[in-house]
Amino acid sequence: MSKIAPAARTDMVHTARIFEKCYRYEDADRVRKAGVYTFFRVIESAQDPEVVLDGRRMIMLGSNNYLGLTNDPRVKEAAIDAIRRYGSGCAGSRFLNGTLDLHVALEDRLARFMRKEAAVVFATGFQVNLGAIACLVGKGDYVYLDKQDHACILDGARLSFGEVRRFRHNDPSDLQRQMRTDTFARGRFIVVDGVFSMEGDIAPLPQIVSVAREFDAGVMVDDAHGIGVLGRTGRGTAEHFGLEDEVDLIMGTFSKSMASVGGFVAGDATVIDYVKHRARTLIFSAAPPPASVAAALATVEIMEREPERRESLWANTRFFAEGLRSMGLDTGDSQTPVVPVVVGQDGTALRMVQRLHEEGVFVNCVLSPATPPGRALIRTSLMATHTREQLTRALEAVEKVAREVGLIEPARV
Ligand code: PMP
Repeated sequence: MSKIAPAARTDMVHTARIFEKCYRYEDADRVRKAGVYTFFRVIESAQDPEVVLDGRRMIMLGSNNYLGLTNDPRVKEAAIDAIRRYGSGCAGSRFLNGTLDLHVALEDRLARFMRKEAAVVFATGFQVNLGAIACLVGKGDYVYLDKQDHACILDGARLSFGEVRRFRHNDPSDLQRQMRTDTFARGRFIVVDGVFSMEGDIAPLPQIVSVAREFDAGVMVDDAHGIGVLGRTGRGTAEHFGLEDEVDLIMGTFSKSMASVGGFVAGDATVIDYVKHRARTLIFSAAPPPASVAAALATVEIMEREPERRESLWANTRFFAEGLRSMGLDTGDSQTPVVPVVVGQDGTALRMVQRLHEEGVFVNCVLSPATPPGRALIRTSLMATHTREQLTRALEAVEKVAREVGLIEPARV
């Protein structure tokens, strides 16, 4: 089903030693040969509740388009207008020639939306975490990460000159224990996902914030999957817990609810100004293009003015998650529109995703290292714009396939 051909491999080809690992790499080919390769699937339509692959319509349950805004006419018009006015690119870094009034308008709007003094916009969310964490954590400082934090948080921490500590997933007492032993720490910084991207569980921010206070630590929340989704007005995990003032920095991306590409971090003006002048992924990389910035800006207005989108997202989430649980499937600790089905073995997860693909349902396969070994899962995610009919069809397909692979009891005849 994938149009991607396996890489040609032959022992006869001379190659520099550095590339030998590529010629020896077999993991992807093994999955292709087993006929269960569902990565890099090619979509021929917009990221809607139904998508087209190989000319065939499928229900999309693997998208981060939570509010259903990526194909919204108002968002698209904003992007088109921006291209007409500013062109297709910024031809340089924000630091030098690439900052438009549009970037500044989005930063002001995001700061107001997040109820922080200031915000700075980067080209991707990944670059926000790489750049901001690496520049804030200096020599002698300690950065504390949840073991399930997103890859770019870990990479940002690794790029820093500080010490990296990782505490057990969603376990503030382990965080506290580690902080107690690190008596030589200069500055301390805790960085957690607000909503964990693979399993949809929420960080226990009240306890984390209380540990932070005890040790004078700064707190940053990556709310890629929380913004537009959690909180009374969609401002994310900190709002959900009423802790907006206690969380120092909130990071977000435009690639989920905000229907675009890019990212930002919001916080005190002095800290944001430092990040603007020190984050290498901002200074040495091109500014996000006008269309992306204008699209993200349009979604902030819509998120504020249309709470019914969030309500519909949550109603869909409850319906779908309860449907899965009532079949006896394990949805982990999901409390959000990211709803995993915990499968266990990689082979079973790969087979289920392939079978669901054949049944017309697009879901994602999550294997180690994105999940702990032996905890392979199928990641599903809801949109505000899914219909009940689509979700019912998807549940029927999941039930059929889960029985086939023995995840739930075969149907009685
Ligand atoms: N943080 C989290 C929790 C994410 O899930 C992602 C995207 N998968 C990112 C950061 C990176 O965001 P972006 O796609 O904007 O690079």
